[in-house]
Formats: sequence, C-alpha cells, structure tokens
Amino acid sequence: MKEYVNHPKCIAIGECGLDYFRLPENEDEKLQEKQLQKEVFISQVEFAKKVKKPLIVHVREASNDSKEILEKYGAKDVGGVLHCYNASEHLLSLSEHNFYFGIGGVLTFKNAKKLVEVLPKIPLEKLLIETDAPYLTPHPNRGKRNEPLYTKFVSQKISELLNISDEEVQNLTTNNAKKLFKEFSSII
Ligand SMILES: [Zn+2]
Repeated sequence: MKEYVNHPKCIAIGECGLDYFRLPENEDEKLQEKQLQKEVFISQVEFAKKVKKPLIVHVREASNDSKEILEKYGAKDVGGVLHCYNASEHLLSLSEHNFYFGIGGVLTFKNAKKLVEVLPKIPLEKLLIETDAPYLTPHPNRGKRNEPLYTKFVSQKISELLNISDEEVQNLTTNNAKKLFKEFSSII
C-alpha cells in the first residue's frame, strides 16, 4: 500500500473493512479470525489517516465492530464510503463522521426490503451510487457481469423511492462523490 499510495490514480484506501459472513465453525478459530480482521482494519484506518485519503469500507454482518473501530480510531478525519448492501440502521450515525453510503444494484432486487427501508433515512448529502462490479448487477441485468453503465438503474430506483427526479439523483450523487474525494476528484 505504501508503494502505491502516491500514484495519481490512488484516491482512497480500500476496499477494507470487516466481513463476518464466512467464519470458521470452531469457536477459537472464529475469534482468531475476527481478531485478525480487526487488527488489519485498524492498521488500514491508521494508514488512511497518515496519508490523508478517505476510506472505502466493506461491512458484512459486522456493523457493531466496524462502527466501533471507525469511531474509536478517528476515521472521521478522512471519512469515506460504506458499502450499503446489507444496510444496517446501526451505521447511519456514521454520516456525522464524514461517512457516505454507497448504494448498489441490491436496491433494485425484489428482496431488498431492508435497504429500501433504510434508504430514506440516509441524509441526501451522504448518498452515493456504486457498482460493486463485477457483482450485484442491478435488475433487469441481474446475473450478468456488472458494469458502471448499469448504475443508471440504481439511480432510477432511488429516484422512484425518494420521489425526486432521476436527474437530481445523478447530480446529487456525482457532487457527493466529488466532495468526498475532494482534491483527488480531477480524475473522476
Ligand atoms: Zn465489498
């Protein structure tokens, strides 16, 4: 990471974070795995602060620990974006810590009930659209390889759910992305 961080295309640190979706069955191994993930994540948060770049954070079934680490280790100094595909209300307060919420193709899925409920609670100035390519391709292309082109389906769905125009959603999320990546935004 130290070697690549000065490259002009490096605008953030990540993707990092915690993922407890697939943990070992054995209790000791499970604890060890969680501990290791936390240590690595903390070092990445500290690294991001040192090089003053925002974080791109993946959180899966690990909302409590992720939130605790981001708060305790002062991640708000650099802020960042949180993947929101397993949207947890618990993470919403991180919007006050310079964190944005990245909405992807899951929002367009029939079973996206949780995300649909959380979406209106995300402050508009903290809303982003992302692909998570090559995965999580939005409806009606679900199953195909995901591409940035398909973010328009996410934008359309947000527009429908929040009752604001699609154009407004596009402008809003583009401006939010530029704001988050600030001085690094010349390439986006
Ligand atoms: Zn991820």
